[in-house]
Amino acid sequence: MARVTVTVVGAGISGIACARELTARGVPVRVLERGRTVGGRMASRRLHGRPVDMGAAYFTARDPEFTEVVHRWRDAGLAREWTDELAVLPGAGRSSGPVRWAAPGGLRSLVADLATGLDVTCEHPAQRVGPGPTVDGEPADAVVLAMPDPQAARLYPVPDAPAWTPVIAVAAGWEERHWPDLPAAFVNDHPVLTLVADDGARRGDGAPVLVAHTTADVVRAHDADPDGAVPAVLDALRELFGGPPPAWTYAHRWRFASPGQDREEPFHLGDDGVGLAGDGWGRARVETAWRSGTLLARAVAKRLGR
Ligand SMILES: Cc1cc2nc3c(=O)[nH]c(=O)nc-3n(C[C@H](O)[C@H](O)[C@H](O)COP(=O)(O)OP(=O)(O)OC[C@H]3O[C@@H](n4cnc5c(N)ncnc54)[C@H](O)[C@@H]3O)c2cc1C
Repeated sequence: MARVTVTVVGAGISGIACARELTARGVPVRVLERGRTVGGRMASRRLHGRPVDMGAAYFTARDPEFTEVVHRWRDAGLAREWTDELAVLPGAGRSSGPVRWAAPGGLRSLVADLATGLDVTCEHPAQRVGPGPTVDGEPADAVVLAMPDPQAARLYPVPDAPAWTPVIAVAAGWEERHWPDLPAAFVNDHPVLTLVADDGARRGDGAPVLVAHTTADVVRAHDADPDGAVPAVLDALRELFGGPPPAWTYAHRWRFASPGQDREEPFHLGDDGVGLAGDGWGRARVETAWRSGTLLARAVAKRLGR
């Protein structure tokens, strides 16, 4: 087997994009992920027989290279153009913008596709990054930490790290749909909600499932028990759309959902061979994370003479 020269920690889209680009440049690489699967915040949880997106609500593709990747996903039936118009609540406002993409199999399936053929070990949390560089005592020519700053900071000093904002995502399923055509809605100036997405609309199967994202204040009140946020979220949904109580709910807390501030640099690569990538390096969104990982891979490969 080829000697591993780069260890990437984190199998979200930034880490997987980084590993893929390194592999394409002939650099042997392994990926360590503490979770049970790849995907990170592009998280899809199987609930009541179908995947529900519990992290990112959708993604955009402005970057030309990322657009090529997205079109490949579309041609393979993995991604679909969802909408370029979102509702603005409360009221009847609409917000136009770039096409929002979704995935019939859930956003995680796209990261899984990018990870095909890579050396990824899940359920392997890295504990320590040391000089050398090393990961848990194992040397590498370079180490990449592809994750939110507060997670990377547990392993390595992160320069200029902003504070990150938390979110609780609540999925709720009904017997029948009872809300208007959204397909997703920004909820402005609301004490509980920031966004509501119609998961059946984005997935394309029409399932009567909504996913609501909460404000940081709600997370602070229910940090230790995300299910404690469900009653307030259901009250808020009832105020907006009416309808009966849902048949089921599921809550997930993201302690580090998005950085409080954008950075100018697309990644960090220290003289010690430790690199940092992720959506904290630019405007926090899926395509930024992909681009950050990809550009860091090119810088690492260059440094290694590839
Ligand atoms: C609620 C929510 C809504 C969002 N909505 C949108 C949206 O609508 N549009 C959009 O474009 N983006 C959205 N985002 C942001 C989008 O999900 C991220 O930009 C993108 O997924 C970040 O990818 P990443 O690889 O940088 O980080 P992550 O996906 O967080 O990946 C980091 C990985 O590192 C792993 N890890 C951490 N520490 C360790 C360790 N010590 N050892 C091993 N592994 C470790 C984690 O388990 C994780 O898998 C949203 C995010 C959230 C949470």
